[in-house]
Amino acid sequence: MLILSRLFRSGQFTQLNRRLFSCTASMADSLSKLKPVVAVVQMTSTPDKEATFAQLSALVTRAKSRGALMTFLPECADYVSETREQAVSLAEPLEGPTVSRYQDLARSLKMWLSVGGYHEKPENTEETKRIYNTHLLIDSEGTIQGVYRKVHMFDIDIPGAVPSYESSYTVPGSRIGPPVLTVCGKVGMAICYDMRFPEMSVSLVQQGAEILTYPSAFTIPTGMAHWETLLRNRAIENQVYVIAAAQIGRHHAKRSSYGNAMVVDPWGTVLAKCHDTVDICLAEIDLPLLHKRRSEMPVLSHKRHDLYGQVLSNTVLPADSQSEYQFGAHSVKSTSVFYRTALSIAFVNRKPVLPGHVLVCPVRVVEHLTDLTAAETADLFLAVQSVAEFTKKHYQVSSLTIAVQDGPDAGQTVKHVHVHVLPRKRGDFADNDDVYRQLEKHDKNVKASEWRSDEDMASEAAVMRKYFYAQ
Ligand code: AMP
Repeated sequence: MLILSRLFRSGQFTQLNRRLFSCTASMADSLSKLKPVVAVVQMTSTPDKEATFAQLSALVTRAKSRGALMTFLPECADYVSETREQAVSLAEPLEGPTVSRYQDLARSLKMWLSVGGYHEKPENTEETKRIYNTHLLIDSEGTIQGVYRKVHMFDIDIPGAVPSYESSYTVPGSRIGPPVLTVCGKVGMAICYDMRFPEMSVSLVQQGAEILTYPSAFTIPTGMAHWETLLRNRAIENQVYVIAAAQIGRHHAKRSSYGNAMVVDPWGTVLAKCHDTVDICLAEIDLPLLHKRRSEMPVLSHKRHDLYGQVLSNTVLPADSQSEYQFGAHSVKSTSVFYRTALSIAFVNRKPVLPGHVLVCPVRVVEHLTDLTAAETADLFLAVQSVAEFTKKHYQVSSLTIAVQDGPDAGQTVKHVHVHVLPRKRGDFADNDDVYRQLEKHDKNVKASEWRSDEDMASEAAVMRKYFYAQ
């Protein structure tokens, strides 16, 4: 396009070429308005990994030929084992050959993949008898963009179904979100049984999800009773697309799955559903429509958290998703921030009273503790707790001063609620309570040259980030 418009300007275009160009431009314009097409897979995995991959690969290739930009695969996309021991013995780490095959497939077809569940062998060598049930998002260049390890264990014993004790061979994950930006929107990752926990869906939507995914291997009795109702509920109450790839049919003598892979839109309409066999179905994702629905009926902002509380998204978010944060009248560079949740940040101090003196504050500029919402209060103190744990370990101390100066008469300089966290050692002040006198005066009448440099603060924060973001 750029070259064409340069040629235009240089007068090298004939009348015909001009017409051709305007035709190309309008085609490009309408192409850019096309809604992304997603494919949803319904398959029958077996204990045979090779045969299962061959089936998966054929279905994904078919999805590509039908114009899908992203394909969603079900839970147990790698195999369905006959025994718990086999589930563990066939598992592979993230760097193993099966995940590499998924990456190669995505790269060669130039297609995003949601590998709804594969059996991941934990890095932790103490866990020799259990796996993770792991959902992967792989982009069209084959790079892993999202890893979610199932958090709710399917430990049930109901009439008509084979009892399941997932926790006996699966380690539950410990993180939800954040959603991953994909070619078809922001995808909140979940797996199968997670769909029964509306709090998890609310947490993902609070974090920005536009699409919730429930790749599954549902049992037949629970599927007949609950599958479609649960999926449509999650879509309607959260005003999101719900994409649920599924296992179907007989995996081996002891296990069969319900199928009914589908895509539900934010209005609760089932847009596409697979036939009652190994199959794919396709649907368009219309994000402008999703946002129109949300503005016409703003249920997400009508919530009365003051009456029934708020789901907390206890998730560590990337600190540098914005370049700086407001701290009262000041700004804090993201390079000084070492921990961030949806509602709070923790950052290093520009004028610490002691080495390791850091601050935790709500993201929203709020002057007094009493002005915080319940969710902000809870999130702030949970963040303080995490920072306190780190400070004790890192500075090898057993004591901390954790203080809030609320209002000018209490020594507050910055009009933004903040919690001071300081490691304490015996004898660090002549008199223990001197720390409060220092907190009161350390940042008053400071010459510009006495504040720490951005570089100095960034290098302290970088060390701390390793702790919070490596977990
Ligand atoms: P207070 O006196 O309780 O309001 O404490 C304010 C704290 O914020 C002091 O410890 C200051 O050193 C610290 N501080 C002020 N501005 C910044 C900034 N831009 N970045 C980091 N720390 C800051």
